[in-house]
Amino acid sequence: MTRMQYTIHEAHQLLKAKKLSSVELTQACLERIRQIEPKVKALVTVTDKPALEQAQQADKLIAEGKGGPLTGIPLAIKDVICTKGVRTTCSSKMLENFVPPYNAAVMEKLNAAGAVMVGKANMDEFAMGSSTENSALFTTHNPWDLERVPGGSSGGSAVAVAAGEALGALGSDTGGSIRQPAGFCSVVGLKPTYGRVSRYGLVAFASSLDQIGPLTQDVTDCALMLNAIAGQDKRDSTSIPEIVPDYTQSLKPDLKGMRIGVPKEYYVEGMQTGVSAAMKAALHKLEELGAKLEETSLPHTGYSLAVYYIIAPSEASANLARYDGVKYGYSYAGDTMWESMEKTRENGFGPEVKRRIMLGTYALSAGYYDAWYVKAQKVRTLIRREFDAAFEKYDALVTPTSPTVPFKIGERADDPLAMYLSDVCTLPINIAGVPAVSIPAGFVDGLPVGMQIIGKHFKEETILRVAYAYEQATEWHKKKPNV
Ligand code: GLN
Repeated sequence: MTRMQYTIHEAHQLLKAKKLSSVELTQACLERIRQIEPKVKALVTVTDKPALEQAQQADKLIAEGKGGPLTGIPLAIKDVICTKGVRTTCSSKMLENFVPPYNAAVMEKLNAAGAVMVGKANMDEFAMGSSTENSALFTTHNPWDLERVPGGSSGGSAVAVAAGEALGALGSDTGGSIRQPAGFCSVVGLKPTYGRVSRYGLVAFASSLDQIGPLTQDVTDCALMLNAIAGQDKRDSTSIPEIVPDYTQSLKPDLKGMRIGVPKEYYVEGMQTGVSAAMKAALHKLEELGAKLEETSLPHTGYSLAVYYIIAPSEASANLARYDGVKYGYSYAGDTMWESMEKTRENGFGPEVKRRIMLGTYALSAGYYDAWYVKAQKVRTLIRREFDAAFEKYDALVTPTSPTVPFKIGERADDPLAMYLSDVCTLPINIAGVPAVSIPAGFVDGLPVGMQIIGKHFKEETILRVAYAYEQATEWHKKKPNV
């Protein structure tokens, strides 16, 4: 069976016109999953039975003339987002058999919108990584070249969308985990402003950086999914009571009057020449569409990697202290309490997670706290101010999503530093808390290149407008991998 080529908005029109039912659409996705999952391995759990029940419900709603743009639409959900009654593993041995008794806020919203969940997507363990190779369960393969990584940590979500297993997906992004895999798989991936989407029910990695966001086939779908998940939630005290606009309203085909900054520090040494050429062409296209481009400088960019790898592990070391074998998750039955805890954590966590816990514990320990953690927080403030200043001059900033195209599976697995470098262009955005979207911007030898568009706090509309205008003027988003 060939894939369903519909985007969410196309499928919605067909569902509304009763030319297609959600059951048919869902069955097509499940069939596609059965067919290609052995090759791409994007999903940890396939929820076929509940999906068909949800699809039947959706068809009923649609028959009554009810429902909205996501009603009856099959989606994949990153396995770090709690789904009531459905195993949520974080791709870790620690949570391999964990079944949450509640739904994350975003799942409540998607359920209320009548969406269908076809599966839970593979990821780097606890969202730590850039390739899904850190999944304790299995590695996901890039549908554009099965020997290459799909990016990470939301690699399973990106592949599910790129390969047609689902029409859209949710991921989470702490330092690039939505945008980098979106770039690597040639789909659209958006990290909202910190506080735009509730983190209630998102298994915590680094709480001051984490955000949930959509991965979709095009920009219109991205706007529709953001409409559904954004908004304040009293259970997440960091979610902000800003009104949620209708993001589809900002999608205009030209960029007249837009001021776009091109920060030179992002066009870094080590960037592949193919990526650099694709970016040059993309910037030219933005100018053709009416934007005024200007080179600018964000001089603290170079500190972002260091700041991130102090703050994120520090928060992770605190957040992951809860996995002690007592409350939930994997538990080793030792002779003493200490042995039980030690062995639980030794066996339950993989090497990258342990590395982060150790880095964070060290950075937060008495005597080192001021030198590492406090210093990193100060530099974080400087980075944020630098973005604030840039957005006084520009409506958006444009950079590559990653300096390279997808690399081979195994190529960087033993070199954590090389792996950390795949996120140099995305980490600063989480540090500043601003929104950014990655969209398809070309190919190098058949491998995708992503372009990142960064905006001011709570100006998702603006970056979606730039993304949409570029998308309408190009064909990249229409290319699909041949699996
Ligand atoms: N790759 C980065 C890391 O390993 C970012 C991960 C993320 O955004 N969750 O921490």
